[in-house]
Amino acid sequence: MQIFEKKSALILCLSLLKEKNKQIGFVPTMGVLHKGHQSLVEKSIANNHFTVVSIFINPTQFNKEEDLKKYPKTLEADLELLKNTGCDAVFIPSVDEIYKQNVVAKSYVFGGIENQMEGAFRPGHFDGVATIVHAFFDIIKPNNAYFGEKDFQQLQVVKKLAEIKNLPVNVIGCPIFREKDGLAMSSRNVRLTSKQRAEVPFIYQTLKETVRLAKTTSIKELYAFVEKEFAKTALDLEYFTIAEETSLEEISTINFNRKNRAFIAVNAGSIRLIDNLAI
Ligand code: AMP
Repeated sequence: MQIFEKKSALILCLSLLKEKNKQIGFVPTMGVLHKGHQSLVEKSIANNHFTVVSIFINPTQFNKEEDLKKYPKTLEADLELLKNTGCDAVFIPSVDEIYKQNVVAKSYVFGGIENQMEGAFRPGHFDGVATIVHAFFDIIKPNNAYFGEKDFQQLQVVKKLAEIKNLPVNVIGCPIFREKDGLAMSSRNVRLTSKQRAEVPFIYQTLKETVRLAKTTSIKELYAFVEKEFAKTALDLEYFTIAEETSLEEISTINFNRKNRAFIAVNAGSIRLIDNLAI
């Protein structure tokens, strides 16, 4: 497995492969890799000649300094996992290598999907995400790029980015990987205390329950149900939204002929967790 810190070296390596018509798969991550990330890497390896994984904690997508500072790092273990998975190359640039002296996000307009949910509660977040994904797509020029449905809104934003910027990349969504108790795997989970860890499976349990109730219950009652359930816990519900999958517009009645999804963001102390489930 090759490790690159400089984009020039990575670009050179990839240009040699592209001359030979090799398909490049790309998986961007922020490290602290788990089985969810691994499933994306495995998919890329299975469907491309060469897989690049980036590990980069992107400062411009954090709207809270504290969250960025506390973001966990486990580089050695990450490299071991990637090597054992069969990854071909890892890109670990410094902030300087990507942003030079200008650590700011560019501005993007995605037709509204960037404004709800994560966009509303983390102002500037999707500008930061789009800036880094766009930069990585420009450097790597992958044929296929893999993103988890765990960050469903991000997946839709990246699809839109590729569409409006005419980028020749297939953006591929991958299912959410969960712990045995249903908790969506996340790098942030390592920061949970044992008490919080015992409580957070409630997020997925509640999502599952809302999906079951959706067959017979109005949206308004579902929202009230979720609020009531979380009020009984130490978890702080940031938002619960039922939206149509592509437009991400909040819906007021469920039309089972369309694809709808329940989205949730919860704070366990200072640790912010998100999840979603198709209805
Ligand atoms: P992150 O390192 O959190 O930025 O995640 C890197 C990629 O892995 C993103 O496309 C995430 O959506 C995806 N990912 C994170 N957690 C999971 C999970 N539990 N299941 C599937 N994909 C995931």
